[in-house]
Amino acid sequence: MSGRIYIFDTTLRDGEQSPGASMNTNEKLRLATQLERLGVDIIEAGFPAASQGDFDAVSRIAGRLERTRVAGLCRAGKNDIDKAWGAIQHARFPRIHTFIATSDIHLEYKLRMNREEVVQAAVDAVKYAKSFTDDVEFSAEDGSRSDRDFLCRIFGAAIEAGATTVNLPDTVGYAIPEEFADMVRYVMSNTPNMHKAVLSVHCHNDLGLATANTLAAINAGARQAEVTINGIGERAGNTSLEEVVMAVHTRPNSISATTNINTRQIYSASRLVSMITGIIVQPNKAIVGANAFAHEAGIHQDGVLKNPMTYEIMKPEDVGVNTNKLVLGKHSGRHALKDRLRELGYELSEDELQQVFMKFKELADKKKHVMDEDLEALVTEGILRTPDLIRLEYLHVAAGTSVMPMASVSLRIGEESVRGADWGNGPIDSTFNTIARLTGTESRLLRFTVSALTDGADAQGEVVVRLKEGDRIALGKGADPDIITASAKAYINGLNRLKYLRDNPVEKGRDTI
Ligand SMILES: [Zn+2]
Repeated sequence: MSGRIYIFDTTLRDGEQSPGASMNTNEKLRLATQLERLGVDIIEAGFPAASQGDFDAVSRIAGRLERTRVAGLCRAGKNDIDKAWGAIQHARFPRIHTFIATSDIHLEYKLRMNREEVVQAAVDAVKYAKSFTDDVEFSAEDGSRSDRDFLCRIFGAAIEAGATTVNLPDTVGYAIPEEFADMVRYVMSNTPNMHKAVLSVHCHNDLGLATANTLAAINAGARQAEVTINGIGERAGNTSLEEVVMAVHTRPNSISATTNINTRQIYSASRLVSMITGIIVQPNKAIVGANAFAHEAGIHQDGVLKNPMTYEIMKPEDVGVNTNKLVLGKHSGRHALKDRLRELGYELSEDELQQVFMKFKELADKKKHVMDEDLEALVTEGILRTPDLIRLEYLHVAAGTSVMPMASVSLRIGEESVRGADWGNGPIDSTFNTIARLTGTESRLLRFTVSALTDGADAQGEVVVRLKEGDRIALGKGADPDIITASAKAYINGLNRLKYLRDNPVEKGRDTI
């Protein structure tokens, strides 16, 4: 089998379901723009019925994208489908993606429906969706644990009702490659009118097999892969876009398929997702991890210097690592900054550019070389974030071997300015104690990590905190040449994100594929 496969990116929907990965509308729009640059075929922008915030973000994305299909996820019910259509109707290429569970265990314990009723619900949903748009995808939730003949039956009925894509999800990450490929072949050969629709797969990584299962399915005839950047998603995550795309790209003889992805945009997309969500990419992550192209062993380095292909199966520049790295400094002007930001994919208004330029000048005073990572941090912190309720105005910390660590902090909370001082076990602890007291937060700090944003002793420190308040989890991020300030910024960002989550409650207990 050969041919083009469609890359369906669900970073904005399934990816956002990773604990703590919520993104605001500006961040989602920026990511959607980058996904379009990357060349994905379909962007699943959200689940419009889940929350007003999701609805608004999907609707903004639908209005913005020029070439990419925009899908909205919805359960198989009129209300959900109405919401999905309401959000995507202005897209140039809208797709309604509706689903219902098909495994016996879900039918019995969750839906309390028999197979006849489930087929009828799927047909009704597809027909109703079809009254709005030609492009309708139907997914069989928990497909990999469903009876094969029942899958063929429900897919056949969905296609008959007008579905143009049918998706077989491994919702719980249970599949094994050979078995999954076999299932795909079975569905391809036994679903009535299968040639009238595209067969898609959607895998989860609970056993670390999401990419393997997706590739096996492609070789068995699937023509759409549902993926996320960095593999983020519920639990252990989804199939990672970069792994599938680079496997197809690197092994054309073994996986006979092509994609429309501009692989040189992969690294930027990966960094952007990590920066926006605060979910750090593990260093040994395939394709996009910090060590993915680092050859430590001496013999490897020697070989790579003589001919990179001795040990490198891909070139770092193929995925956009280290290409055209430009360093800005103190003397760089507005124009150079604007050009560089545009190359990185940020189209800013004059006002926004001015804001970033001021921050850039401040940073360039403290740090000799301003790298792309620094610029991205300035933009994500300065422009993309939700207008913050809480802002840091002033921070002074005394710490050392012979003083009790003490922080004085001034915050702006809405229109009000508040200040206070408190002590702690160290400079960061005292800063956090003071901020916690001034804001009256009831959140708990679950995790705190600090790393360097770039190489060099003057690198900015990047801090990520994970906060929990009730059943809400938020990640906060902050970057600054001073790590205490970076920590304060990260903590405050986390508190602002918790507020965003409180203001935009997501429907509880909803099922997804
Ligand atoms: Zn999923």
